[in-house]
Amino acid sequence: MIFNKAIFLDRDGVINKKAPDKGYITSWDNFQFLPGVLKALAKISQSSYKIFIVTNQRGISRGIMSEDALKNIHNNMITEIRNNGGRIDEIYYCPHGNNECTCRKPLPGMLDNAKSDYNISLEESWVVGDSITDIKAGKARECKTIYIGEDSEAMAFSDYSVDSLDSAVNLISSINLSLSSSTERFIKKRRLIIKC
Ligand SMILES: [Mg+2]
Repeated sequence: MIFNKAIFLDRDGVINKKAPDKGYITSWDNFQFLPGVLKALAKISQSSYKIFIVTNQRGISRGIMSEDALKNIHNNMITEIRNNGGRIDEIYYCPHGNNECTCRKPLPGMLDNAKSDYNISLEESWVVGDSITDIKAGKARECKTIYIGEDSEAMAFSDYSVDSLDSAVNLISSINLSLSSSTERFIKKRRLIIKC
């Protein structure tokens, strides 16, 4: 069986500017892409990675926002990403409150859903987020983790920390390039050995 690799992206604070005062993005009018995000998504969309958004949206369970309003935001977001040369393969969202489910990050339920929907090898996948809860969800399934931000606890806990999605995408690309060149070197070495 062939497994797919994935990049799991948190939404608020990674793709778009967070709502002020720990609030919620409740309409497309309030949604603002962070600088460089559309270009970074276009870049990573050229790769073979599946690209998923995994986002906690507790505003739904709190009655602050309807599920339809969230879907409307996501439809607009996907259109904008596509118009800029990028793709998102699926958006997983958790509408629940605390302790109501197995999908609200830091729990890894959304990663598990993607694994079964798309045959994903989680150990070969990446989680990118701006909160320690994103990193904890990734670590719970042995994903490689990239933290975007400056919180010292999250920086220490994650595998890598960077300042933006663009930097995260560049990091994943450079690690993959160095991996593939070391694999090539390994193959060349083996050929040499076989020749001898
Ligand atoms: Mg976030």
